[in-house]
Parts: sequence; structure tokens; C-alpha cells
Amino acid sequence: MCGGKDATVLFSGLRRQASTAPNDETFRRAYIEAMNAPCKSDLDRLQAAFEGQRSAFSFDAVPGISTRRMKLRDLVRAIRARRSGIVDAISADFGNRSADETLSAEIAVTIGSIEHTCRHLDRWANPTRMFNLGIPIPGRTYVRHEPKGVVGVISPWNYPFQLAVIPAATALAGGNKVLVKPSEFTPRTAELLAQLFADVYGEDEVAVVTGGPDVGKAFSELAFDHLFFTGSTEVGRKVAMAAAENLTPVTLELGGKSPCVMMPDADPEKHAPLVAFGKFYSGGQTCVAPDYLLVPKGRAEAFSAAIIDAARRTWPAPATDDGYTSIITDRHHDRLAAMIDEARDAGLTVLSAGDAAPDARRIPPTVVIGPAPDSRLMTEEIFGPILPIIEYDDLDDAVRFVTARDHPLALYAFGRDARAAEKLVARTTSGGAVVNGTIVHLAVEHLPFGGVGKSGYGAYHGKRGFAEFTHARSVLVLPQWPILRDTIVRPDGRRMRWLTDWMIGK
Ligand code: NAD
Repeated sequence: MCGGKDATVLFSGLRRQASTAPNDETFRRAYIEAMNAPCKSDLDRLQAAFEGQRSAFSFDAVPGISTRRMKLRDLVRAIRARRSGIVDAISADFGNRSADETLSAEIAVTIGSIEHTCRHLDRWANPTRMFNLGIPIPGRTYVRHEPKGVVGVISPWNYPFQLAVIPAATALAGGNKVLVKPSEFTPRTAELLAQLFADVYGEDEVAVVTGGPDVGKAFSELAFDHLFFTGSTEVGRKVAMAAAENLTPVTLELGGKSPCVMMPDADPEKHAPLVAFGKFYSGGQTCVAPDYLLVPKGRAEAFSAAIIDAARRTWPAPATDDGYTSIITDRHHDRLAAMIDEARDAGLTVLSAGDAAPDARRIPPTVVIGPAPDSRLMTEEIFGPILPIIEYDDLDDAVRFVTARDHPLALYAFGRDARAAEKLVARTTSGGAVVNGTIVHLAVEHLPFGGVGKSGYGAYHGKRGFAEFTHARSVLVLPQWPILRDTIVRPDGRRMRWLTDWMIGK
């Protein structure tokens, strides 16, 4: 038997049986057997996994808070045990990615997130008592934080571990079942994710399905109870439209062009290294990387020299394993190389941290001074190690430049006077913002992380993530006082009229 259509039919039959014997062990055994059988295709396996999780959610008891926490701690242990495997898989998927980048941005951030969740889970998951003055409706009130059901997680290639595991773990903390679809560009990491989850969870709790856009499309058409998508704005729009058919709530974690603004008092020596770090980390393939840099008039050369100098110091041995991260595919590499060629052809100043790429898919950190607003560098999300630098006349001009464009995922402002930089932040909109730093806000677990406008909607991390994956269900327990009953249901309605008049006021 195959874990595909046959399994789907089997599940429908078993569901019917299970309605009389919900916890029937036969159901679980048949499910596991079907899932382990070879599949006809990714799409069949997807359908089978979804059906299986739906059934499991409908008929199994929701795991208690202590069970959820225990399993999340087991997951952390499994991640620690597999750390070198994760480093190797991601590096092999990219061509090269330094162990330091994977250990910090994938493994440490993910473990930090899960441990934060474990520490706070009781407070987030237990019913929240609400203070009720009793006017006009008396009674006990509280909010239950219930699992939504089966959650779908579609993840991208650029941080293929943390962007799959953190949303999945947060959804599991909420008591949900989770189906994960990683990117087709990181197959070794996808395989490892499947093994990692299998260390701790049954496939009726977490399953990983693989495939490209066709599987992604079919995935987003399933009637999930919540769909969590991380990826491009273009695909995010398609996912939201598919989910709308089922009225599935969606979180969209998208990209965009995140600006970085140097205030008039910013210092190249002090601030440029932090820009270089956030921009060129992981080959610039970071959703929150600064996409372009705005500097005061006359200072582009000073800042570009300082940024290139900082990049050289940060990646002193570009060709080694600890050197630049490779661009994920030849296609992505060629697109970036074409952008640099276009800038050179336009006669712009192009500075590079290295003369030649150490191998076919690594691009040295590069800055381009003054690209035209309608160039690809200034209209497309760059998502690679190229930083356009644009000069502004005054801060009003800088603010206009930022606010005339789509709302970005992040905004960075640098200046010796941090308060002044905060004022600039307040005059703009973005998913998140950092003053005097770049990209590290992603690792501050108690800060909600998400976009706004074209950079997405919804958010996760910490308590906000738990709220995203749970349903806040209000409960009112009315006292059984005759006076209350008579007020509500009395046929002549006199008390109700008095009450409504009092509520409306004079
Ligand atoms: P992508 O949108 O091309 O792909 C993301 C995922 O969607 C992949 O798993 C892919 O297989 C799947 N997919 C493709 N077509 C689909 C369809 N029609 N329906 C459903 N799913 C489909 O993005 P990418 O190239 O993997 O990642 C880069 C983008 O992701 C950048 O724009 C970046 O800014 C963004 N990103 C955002 C965040 C964030 O947290 N906001 C984080 C990382 C990356």
C-alpha cells in the first residue's frame, strides 16, 4: 500500500470507525503503516499526511502543557545532538556556509526560541482570568488558549533550519499538529528536518513534505487551520489567495527592501562595521539584511570605504569554509552578477572587498554608489552581498525616500544621538527597527517579528508567536441568579429596557 491516495481513503474509513472508538489503536497503527509505505508522489504523500493529522487532531486528546514542554525539551536535545549534521547539511545545500553562521543564526537562535517558549509556556497556555466588574453582565470570565488544529508551515531556503523549526515548535507549543514544507533548494536540510522531528514526534504530530512550487501550491490549497508562510512577496500573495478559499488564517513573513539610514552625526568608523555585518552575513541572503544605505550628502565615499574595509576584516579568508557564504544556485548568482555588471555599465562607482570571486557561487561584498531609482538594484529586493549607497539632502528627504516605497520588513538608523535616530524611526513604518545595529533584533525572542504591508502580516516569536498559533476563546460563566435570568428573559422586558437605557446613558 502507498501512503498516498490509498491512505487517504483508508483515513476516511478509519475516521468513520473512529467516531465510535476515537482512541482506537488500530487507527494509529494503520496510519503509521500507511505513512511509512512508499508514496506514489509528493502530492499523494502531502494529502495523506494532512488527512492523517486532521484525524489525529479530531480524535486524539490535545497534549497537556507539561507533555508539550517535555517534547520541546527533547527537540532541543535532538537539535544539540545533530548540530554538526545541521552545519554540514546547510553548507552542502548552499555550496558553502560557514559553521559559525549556521551555529549562531540557525541553531543557537532556534534553541533560544524554544527554550524561551518552554520557560513561559505555563503562563501563555493556561487560561487567562479576566477581571469582570459585573456591570452590566456579571459572571466569571476567562480566555482559553486553544490549539487551532493542523498548522501548515511553508519555509524558504535562506535560513532553512530556523525558519522551519521555530514556527513549527511554536505551533506545537500551542498544541497543534504541524505539516512543514521546506524549500526545494535545500533538500539535505529538508531530509534532516524530517529525521529531527521523527526523533521526538510521530508523523501524526509533525510531518515534513518535500517538493517545489507544485507541492507548495497544493499545500496552500489544503484546508489548514492556520498557514504560516515565509518567502517572497510574490509567492506570499499566491499563498494568501489560495488560503482565502478555505478562510484559512495566514501569517505572511515576506521580504522587501529594508533601508538603513545614517543620521548626520553617524560615524563611518564606528557604524560601518555593523552595516557590513548585517548586509554581508550569509552572503547577503537574509530577509532583514539592509537592502540600501542612505547617507548624508557628500559622505557616500567615506561610508563605502569604511564598509568595504569592515567586510575585509570580517571575512579575512573569503575562499575558506569560514569565508563568504555561497549564493544558493547558479540562477540566483547570475542575477546578482548581472546587477553588478549593470552598475558598472552605467559608469557607477563599484567597490568590492575582493578582486575575484573565490569560486563560482561566492560573490565578494560589493557597494554601488548612486544607482538610479529605476535600476534593478533599487526596484528589486537584492538578497545578495551588494549594497547600493544613496546620498540624501536632509532628513526630510531621507524620510520621503523611505516612505515613498513599500513598507519594508526592517529599518535601521545609525547615529551617535540615539534619540534623534529613534525620532527618524518614528517618522517611518517597517516590520521592525533597530537603532545602531542590524539584523540582531531577530534573535530578541520577546520582540514580535513580522512585516507590515508588502513585507507581510501577522507576527511570531515569543508570546506573540504563541498567540498567532492559538485561538483565544472567551468563556463567560453566568451566575444562576433568578434576577439575572428574569432581566434577560422576562417577557415584559421592563428590566432589560431599564438596563439598556442605563447603558446608553443620557
Ligand atoms: P519563495 O517565495 O520563492 O519560496 C518560499 C517557499 O514557497 C518555498 O518552500 C517554495 O517551494 C514555496 N512555493 C513556491 N511557489 C509556491 C506557490 N505557488 N504556492 C505555495 N508555495 C510556493 O522564497 P525563497 O526564494 O525561498 O526565499 C526568499 C524570500 O523569502 C525573500 O523575499 C526573503 O526576503 C523572504 N524571507 C522572508 C523572511 C521573513 O521572516 N520575513 C525570512 C526569510 C526569507
